[in-house]
Parts: sequence; C-alpha cells; structure tokens
Amino acid sequence: YTGKTGAELLGDKVKHITVKHYQSRPIVVQESASVYDAIVTMFLEDVGTLFVVDKQTTLVGVLSRKDLLRASLGKQALESIPVSIIMTRMPNITVCQRDDLITEVAKKLIDKQIDCLPVVTEVDFGSGFEVIGRITKTNITALLVDLANDEVI
Ligand code: ADP
Repeated sequence: YTGKTGAELLGDKVKHITVKHYQSRPIVVQESASVYDAIVTMFLEDVGTLFVVDKQTTLVGVLSRKDLLRASLGKQALESIPVSIIMTRMPNITVCQRDDLITEVAKKLIDKQIDCLPVVTEVDFGSGFEVIGRITKTNITALLVDLANDEVI
C-alpha cells in the first residue's frame, strides 16, 4: 500500500498520458485555397479548426470558425479571398508534439484561449513543422470520461 490519496493516484495516472493517446486526424487546406473552400472543408470534415500548409506540406497557418466568420462579414466574394490573408500565421502558432503530456496541452489551450493545437514534428531542423495530428478540447473531454470510467491505461 503506497499511502497515496485518491487524488495523488489520479494525478500520477494523468501525468503519463501523452498527446499520441488522444490525438485526432488533422484536416488541412492549402495556403492558396479560398475562404469559400475553407468553409466548405470545415463543414464536410466536421471540425472547428483547419491547418494551412504550403506546397511542401509545412504548417503555415491556422483557421478557426471565427476567422472564417469575420472574413464573411466583408463585402468581398469569399472565392476571391485566399486563406493566407486571414489565417493566424507562423511563428504565432501554438503547437505540441506526440510525446507531450496531455496536461501541458490543456494548459496551453487555457492560457492562449484557443480550442485546438496542431500536433507537429520538426522537419530537418529549423525548416518548419509537419502536421501529424490535431488535439482539441473534445479530445481532452474524452480523457475525462475515460478517467471517470477507470479506462485509462
Ligand atoms: P474561435 O475563433 O472559433 O473561437 P479559437 O478560440 O480556437 O476559435 O481561435 C481564436 C483565435 O486564435 C483565432 O484567430 C485562431 O486563428 C487562433 N488560433 C486557433 N488555434 C491556434 C493555435 N493553435 N495557435 C495560435 N493561434 C490559434
């Protein structure tokens, strides 16, 4: 018997859970895509955040629902606005890696007041990030349910 309280045991468990256990598939659009295309992709893929990549598939931007709503308030035709002019761009993107703790991700989501982080790997040191996943508040809610049902490894 370790003499640990329930809360300590729960804490120990949570501190072993990493991004790779709860991440989802990333949905990306090209930086040349229009705001119209991005809205269609967001509906078809049923996600709240899209990642924008260049031709080399390097992460260059993030698009949220409100970014696309804001762009839709203007008078300009949505087919004529490239996502690259409205997205949040590198280096202002908060990212995580597959071996990061889920608690670090939760803290970043709260501190930055955002819904989603891209899971990335670094491509040849310094030349940018490749997007390999997506982690959202929904993934973290799934972890909470697993914890409550004692289904965490
Ligand atoms: P919404 O804007 O739909 O409420 P978010 O709260 O996730 O969704 O996004 C708020 C703002 O932060 C948006 O302008 C979005 O582009 C930006 N954003 C979203 N995710 C990230 C991220 N991982 N890193 C940096 N900026 C982000």
